[in-house]
Amino acid sequence: METLTSASLFGAAKRVVIKIGSSLLVDSATGLLRRDWLAGLASDVAMLKADGKEVLIVSSGSIALGRRVLGFPVGTLSLERAQAAAAVGQIRLAQAYQEVLQPHSIEAAQVLLTLEDTENRRRYLNSRATIGTLLELGTVPIVNENDTVATDEIRYGDNDRLAAQVASMVGADVLVLLSDVEGLYTADPRNDRDAKFLAHVDAITPEIEAMAGEAGTEGASGGMKTKVMAAKVAMHAGCAMAITKGEVLRPVEALLDGATVTWFAAAASPGVARKRWISGMKTKGRIILDAGAVTALGRGKSLLPAGVKGVEGEFDRGEAIEIIGPNGISIAKALAGYDATEARLIMGCQSNEIEARLGHTGRAAMVHRDDMAM
Ligand code: GLU
Repeated sequence: METLTSASLFGAAKRVVIKIGSSLLVDSATGLLRRDWLAGLASDVAMLKADGKEVLIVSSGSIALGRRVLGFPVGTLSLERAQAAAAVGQIRLAQAYQEVLQPHSIEAAQVLLTLEDTENRRRYLNSRATIGTLLELGTVPIVNENDTVATDEIRYGDNDRLAAQVASMVGADVLVLLSDVEGLYTADPRNDRDAKFLAHVDAITPEIEAMAGEAGTEGASGGMKTKVMAAKVAMHAGCAMAITKGEVLRPVEALLDGATVTWFAAAASPGVARKRWISGMKTKGRIILDAGAVTALGRGKSLLPAGVKGVEGEFDRGEAIEIIGPNGISIAKALAGYDATEARLIMGCQSNEIEARLGHTGRAAMVHRDDMAM
C-alpha cells in the first residue's frame, strides 16, 4: 500500500477541512485571541486556495473568548453562561477570521450548525447544498456549533465530532485536526515512557480505541478519544484525517514540510463512500421514470421532474427512495430532493413551472446526481 504522506494526501485533495482547537486560538493566560497565529493560518489557507483547493474551517473558541469579555471566573460554566459566552465570543471570532482573510482577498462565511443539521435528513441536504455553494463561490466557511441555541441533549458538544460530520457532509478528502497534541501514541506519553508514536492508522480497531483513553488532553471539550471517534466518521466517509500539533505559526505549511502527524487512512474516495452509504439505506418510497429520464441519468445528469411518471409511498426530503425505470426495474437508490407530496405536485412538469405548482421557488432537481447510487 502507498504510504500516506502529508504532501501526497494534500496534493490529491480537492476539499480540505481544518479544525482549530480553542487552545491554539485563545491565549490561556490572557483569554485574548492569538492574532499572529491566526494571520499565519490565513496565509496557509491562501496557499491551499492558490493551489486550487476548497477550504473550510471548523473553529472553536467562541466560549473561551466570550467568557473573558463577560468577566466569568475560571472553572466550568453553567450551560446558560456557556451559551451566553458563545454569543459574545462568536461575533468576535467570526470578525477575526474575516479580518485575517481579507488581505488575501478571501471572503469568510459564517456557518453555525446544530446537531440536527447533520442528523435530520432534510436539514442535512440543505446544509450540504449551502456549504457546497459557499465553497464553489470561493469563500471559506468558518463553521462552529450554534452553541447559543443548542442545549445539552441536542449538542455535538465537541468540535472534533462536528468537524468530522461536516467533512463527511461536504465530501472533503482531507480533515486536519490542529490541536495541542502531536498525534496518537500507543499509551499516554506523559505517564508511560514506553509509549510509541503512531504515524499511520488504517482502521479504528478496539486496540486503537483503547490507546485513545479518556478525554482530557486539551483545554477544551475534545481529547484523544473524541479525535479517534472523529477519525472513524471521517474514514468511513472517504476522508483522510490528520492529528497534529498546530502551535507553530504556519501549521499547514509545517505539515506539508513533514511535521509530526498521525494520519488516519480513508476507506475509499468520498464519492464512492457516499454511494455506498446511500445504497445501504432503507427506502421509503419509489419514483417511476420515463425512458428519456433513464437515459439522462445514465449520462450522469440529475433527475428533473419532467421525467417522472409516478411517485409512490411517503417520504421526506433527504430520505432514501428507489428509482424505477419504465419496465419496473430498479435502477438506483437515491436521497429524495423533494418530499412525496411536493414530488407528486411537480412530477411531469418543466422546471419553469415548479414555482407555480408549489407556491414557492423549488429546486430544479427531483434528485441531485450526487445523491444517487446507480
Ligand atoms: N463550540 C465550542 C466553542 O466554540 C468549542 C467546542 C470544542 O472545544 O470542541 O467554544
